[in-house]
Amino acid sequence: MPKKSEKTGREKTTDIYRLLSEASEKKRQKERTELLQAVGVEDKFEEGDITIDMKTCKGVECKFCIDVCPTNALYWKTGEVCIIKELCIYCTSCVLNCMVDNCIEVRRKRQNGETEVFCKPQDVSLLLNKINARNRVRIIKDLFPDDEAYLKQYGKHARARLKKKKRKSSRPNSKRP
Ligand code: SF4
Ligand code: SF4
Repeated sequence: MPKKSEKTGREKTTDIYRLLSEASEKKRQKERTELLQAVGVEDKFEEGDITIDMKTCKGVECKFCIDVCPTNALYWKTGEVCIIKELCIYCTSCVLNCMVDNCIEVRRKRQNGETEVFCKPQDVSLLLNKINARNRVRIIKDLFPDDEAYLKQYGKHARARLKKKKRKSSRPNSKRP
């Protein structure tokens, strides 16, 4: 039956394309792992991408991104910044040091599925602040799992402070005539 064979043929073609694309992705991943191992850097993100807008890049006047890249994924060639995408670990150092907002764009996906986009230094600073705040909360929770633990350590001082505050507020106002 012509209808059936036509359909099967199309499915086979799709399968071949899918297999070829999977094979090339596996090859790319293998090359990436080998390259990163060679430079001694750990790959911490599930996936990611980096792009540079050559229309706004200051190029020869700048090259800060090339200087700060820990894996040498960025290099100077024929008058512009070039990228070896396989070497990029999406660390965002280049974005943090770029003198032009929205010139470099780094996108990355964390192991937990969270995606992040960085286009300017403020984006990186905001993330660092968020991580620091999260770490502070975690450390405090480890030190004082509940109110009892806090009061055991600092209860005496906390009570003394409270007493002092109460005494101050009960004093007659000296500015009054
Ligand atoms: S994100 Fe990090 S590894 Fe990737 S190009 Fe920028 S500085 Fe280099
Ligand atoms: S830091 Fe930014 S402006 Fe400077 S060369 Fe790199 S991409 Fe271009």
